[in-house]
Amino acid sequence: MIYDSIIDTIGNTPLVRLNKLNAGIEGEVVVKVEYFNPGNSMKDRMAVKMVEDAEKAGILKPGGTIIEGTSGNTGMGLALAAIAKGYKCIFTMADKQSKEKIDILRAVGAEVVVCPTNVAPEDPRSYYSVAKKLNADIPNSFYPNQYDNLSNWKAHYETTGPEIWKDTIGKITHFAAGVGTGGSMSGTAKFLKEQNPAVVSVGIDTYGSVFKKYKETGIFDEDEIYPYLTEGIGEDILPQNVDFAMIDLFIKVTDKDAAVMTRRLAREEGLFVGWSCGSAVHGALEFAREHLKKGDLMVVLLPDHGTRYLGKVYNDDWMRNHGFLEDKTFTTARDILK
Ligand code: PMP
Repeated sequence: MIYDSIIDTIGNTPLVRLNKLNAGIEGEVVVKVEYFNPGNSMKDRMAVKMVEDAEKAGILKPGGTIIEGTSGNTGMGLALAAIAKGYKCIFTMADKQSKEKIDILRAVGAEVVVCPTNVAPEDPRSYYSVAKKLNADIPNSFYPNQYDNLSNWKAHYETTGPEIWKDTIGKITHFAAGVGTGGSMSGTAKFLKEQNPAVVSVGIDTYGSVFKKYKETGIFDEDEIYPYLTEGIGEDILPQNVDFAMIDLFIKVTDKDAAVMTRRLAREEGLFVGWSCGSAVHGALEFAREHLKKGDLMVVLLPDHGTRYLGKVYNDDWMRNHGFLEDKTFTTARDILK
């Protein structure tokens, strides 16, 4: 099989059984490893669909510039699509995002504008506002706006959901995923629930984000909003891609629990994945311990790869500085020789 371009290799990522972290859980927990996509994240799927839908709608024309606010992974997917199809890219990113993510986007030829994290979305300095302004000022530019562009959830409805259904031979009973723009959870859960309405969807949220409270009370509570560290999930807005009807419940996971679980995924399962993968697995296992029964099959979506977090959760000094590393997890050669 020879592919015409790298974006044709997106999708069909593997499901892998957890072998250690699932100890004591009735039923099975498997993960869908999205770093097998060419941009090393699940966002390749929706990035290409946003570009192709915009081309079809005549919004994106030859020689155009794609401008997007991104936590990194969408940018990578858009950059790959832009290279394959001949567009330029400018990305705005919040300064809390890993340096690796910024460097990776620059490596594939994108221009990156770094904006302050701790300002309100409507502040002119925020990465949302800067992206909108660049789009208004640059002729023949296209602003995909992954938060409200419904091609986002549709990409997962068309690919992620069907892949899971096929690979579990329709045996999936639970689906868990982090919620940022909401596209991956909403689109995948919609497809799965259409096949079997009994499939339970568990959305993973962060402390500092509005989703869980909004689902439970219908109230957009500004007191829920405060800075947090985990990248890619949780929001201080309600994106149109979050379909609350498709998410049965939310579980909040702390930055620390997510960081510790991310490292355990790498060490104990050989899954060198990103920080929000730790959030998803920590939250999913918390739910599974209480609710999964023999014969149940839970699929947890793991969005991206560990390389993007080498300077953070995979760095012992960074972990210690944040009070996240209490136990001594590394054995050095000196310890063994003592
Ligand atoms: N994890 C990471 C690392 C991400 O980049 C994103 C995308 N924001 C998510 C989780 C959440 O996915 P979604 O936007 O589809 O809700």
